[in-house]
Amino acid sequence: MPEKKAAPDFSASDMHTSLSEFHIIEKYFAHLAPDRDDVVLGIGDDCALLQPPQDQHLAVTMDTLVAGRHFTPDVDPESLGHKVLAVNLSDLAAMGATPAWATLALTLPKVDPVWLRAFADGFSRLAQSHQVSLVGGDTTRGPLAITVQVQGFLNRNQALRRSGAAPGELVYVTGSLGDAAMALRTADCSEETKRRLDWPQPRISQGQALLDLATSAIDISDGLLADLGHICNGSNVGATLYCGKLPLSPEVSRYIERSGDWSVALGGGDDYELCFTVPEKRQQQVEQLFRKNSWPLSLIGIIRGDGGIDALLEDGRTYQSPRNGFDHFSSDV
Ligand code: ADP
Ligand code: MG
Repeated sequence: MPEKKAAPDFSASDMHTSLSEFHIIEKYFAHLAPDRDDVVLGIGDDCALLQPPQDQHLAVTMDTLVAGRHFTPDVDPESLGHKVLAVNLSDLAAMGATPAWATLALTLPKVDPVWLRAFADGFSRLAQSHQVSLVGGDTTRGPLAITVQVQGFLNRNQALRRSGAAPGELVYVTGSLGDAAMALRTADCSEETKRRLDWPQPRISQGQALLDLATSAIDISDGLLADLGHICNGSNVGATLYCGKLPLSPEVSRYIERSGDWSVALGGGDDYELCFTVPEKRQQQVEQLFRKNSWPLSLIGIIRGDGGIDALLEDGRTYQSPRNGFDHFSSDV
């Protein structure tokens, strides 16, 4: 008789070796998103088979959220499911792309059905509202981390890049700034402000509408100064920002008045609004477009020929960043 082997300890093993991966996918993710004609084969085989539209570019992006770094492990799983897709869709929005497909890599410390149901619901609702189909992914055991990749379509040579800004152009931003950063820094903020941190809304329609109007665009994930800095670096220009023109909620506005801390609006991150540049001759057209659609829009600055960004405070002083806003590793909140 061969020696009896101990039963494998599935709780400590990679889920690839257990049946639970299959069940998780089947139960929570297999039917999660709308059917699309361009999904030839979705979840279930070794690969998905997808049919991109002829003559269009595929826009591809990926983002990871790690527990303890990007969110607290006790965060509402429904908002986490929403947010991990939203931050990816926000990158598509910043290029003007039309979202189509997503893949999801889930690393879970344990299988918690209540958590998984809520996470899948949050992901699913946002996916449905943008007709995004979840076509594949990977599920494994380990410290909680989630990676999503999304793919979208763009007409050839129409993408809103970071490299198209020119001196004299106007700098705009959608929505409001600083809410998410304030929710992170202050415990006693309103539910509305907290929602801006946990439930960011990707500005997909705005990005698409800007395709023929903006010369450059970026979504604000690392803070306005850092992200506008990417446009400036990419376009070889500088910018002057007028802090008095920044779109601030009443709560953020009061906070800045009280504390003098402009960094929530200029360096906070997690806003997921679009920052973009427009030649002056299109000013009216852009402003009318946003007004017609009731999309909040603010003109916050102007592109200059020389480098750097000056953020002018209302008293005439220039804002001094407490950190180097241009470096991802030093600008993390
Ligand atoms: P393989 O071992 O061949 O990589 P998997 O067992 O990892 O396949 O996955 C089986 C199927 O389930 C594949 O189609 C894969 O894309 C999909 N899948 C796995 N995890 C997820 C997930 N978290 N969300 C969506 N689809 C998933
Ligand atoms: Mg796998």
